[in-house]
Amino acid sequence: MTKTHHDVACTVCGCVCDDISLEVRDNQIVSHKNLCTLGEPAFLELTDAASLVSHKKQLPAQTLGLEEKLQCAAEILANSRAPLVYGMSRSSTPGHRAAVRLADKLGAVIDTTASTCHAASIMALQQVGESTASLGEVRHRSDLVIYWGSNPLVSHPRHIERFVDAPGQFIPGGRKDRKLIVVDTEKTKTAELADIFIQVEPGGDFELLCALRMLTQGKPLGVGGPIHTNQPSTSVGGSIGGVELEQIEHLAKLLRTCHYGAVFFGFGITHTSVPHATIEALLQLVTELNDHTRFIARRMRIPGDVSGADSVLTWQTGFPFGVNLARGYPRYNPGEYTAGSLLERKEVDAVVIVGSEGVAKLSPSEQEYLKTVPTIVLDYPGRECSFQPTVQFTTGVYGLHYEGTAYRMDEVPIPLRAVLQSDLPSDEQVLQGILERVLN
Ligand code: SF4
Repeated sequence: MTKTHHDVACTVCGCVCDDISLEVRDNQIVSHKNLCTLGEPAFLELTDAASLVSHKKQLPAQTLGLEEKLQCAAEILANSRAPLVYGMSRSSTPGHRAAVRLADKLGAVIDTTASTCHAASIMALQQVGESTASLGEVRHRSDLVIYWGSNPLVSHPRHIERFVDAPGQFIPGGRKDRKLIVVDTEKTKTAELADIFIQVEPGGDFELLCALRMLTQGKPLGVGGPIHTNQPSTSVGGSIGGVELEQIEHLAKLLRTCHYGAVFFGFGITHTSVPHATIEALLQLVTELNDHTRFIARRMRIPGDVSGADSVLTWQTGFPFGVNLARGYPRYNPGEYTAGSLLERKEVDAVVIVGSEGVAKLSPSEQEYLKTVPTIVLDYPGRECSFQPTVQFTTGVYGLHYEGTAYRMDEVPIPLRAVLQSDLPSDEQVLQGILERVLN
């Protein structure tokens, strides 16, 4: 019998599109609607792999049954003096909660993949605040959208379709009523669609943002006097961050005079040489623009539920990543309690990894150290871990096999539904099972 599920959410990227239709027959997806070029292969690969869980290349610990694996993992953690719980960007709220619970009882450090991607953005917003809105508000109200250091046509293929091209309540013409600007170091696919492309030199974002802050506040640039005198106002003679002054003035005018502006920023700006300062400058520019118009900033989060991991850690410990629970209360210190730093300094003796895709973001030496300590890895079906874990669990997928919640990149919680049946345990069940055996 065929059953059609409407409004299913895809968690392959931070857009978490929740308008997917799936037709299911004999516990297999036979057709789908609205999955993009990124979502379709990932979604279908997960579904296929779930029914063919591979048992290749397994050590004795992996060929054990679930009970023995849980016991083995519990023994590793019970004997550990400095455990680390890491990952969680492809999990869901129940998995995040179970991971925090386990870390809390173990007195472990818990860290998410945010520490290797948008950590600088999170720390910047903790310093200077953030003017935000939901993606729905952007769609319905914005007449100016900027992608800064982000190429959504590749990383978030439906972002433009859903929030820029789509008509909104106050923007009935959709894309034709909206100006699209791309700021990047190279002409990307998204830049080709833009009304204005501003090519900033690598590492020049901070200077460009400072110039925009000055201009949008009506202040002269540099020591050369007011910008309208046409005197050279910077040491680089007529350009800042590789962008001509004339173009910067034009951009500043557009920012000040739009009715509602939104800037989405991505890895291009979070991985500069001074990421915190650069993102602080961007967030301050956006805050200051609210003296003249309405303007918001949002991070382009990549994995489907990395925002959820931040949110759950924050509501449970007070901090979004890099939290040390060893003293029985949470301590937060990026660079000290983040996974990469701990592995680099060889300060952990057992690691629980919820979603091994986060391992690729660690440096080669950090990955090398992982191979020398006992590791417990929980992965979705078909995911290949880059090293051989001591204990490996294959878990069911939230949004396919299990209900849950994913947080979209704008931190709006989206319910995930179970549309397929599976014998695989959820990561919540595995983490809870390990905890119960540690406590016994
Ligand atoms: S844009 Fe992202 S969430 Fe939406 S269908 Fe594509 S991969 Fe899935």
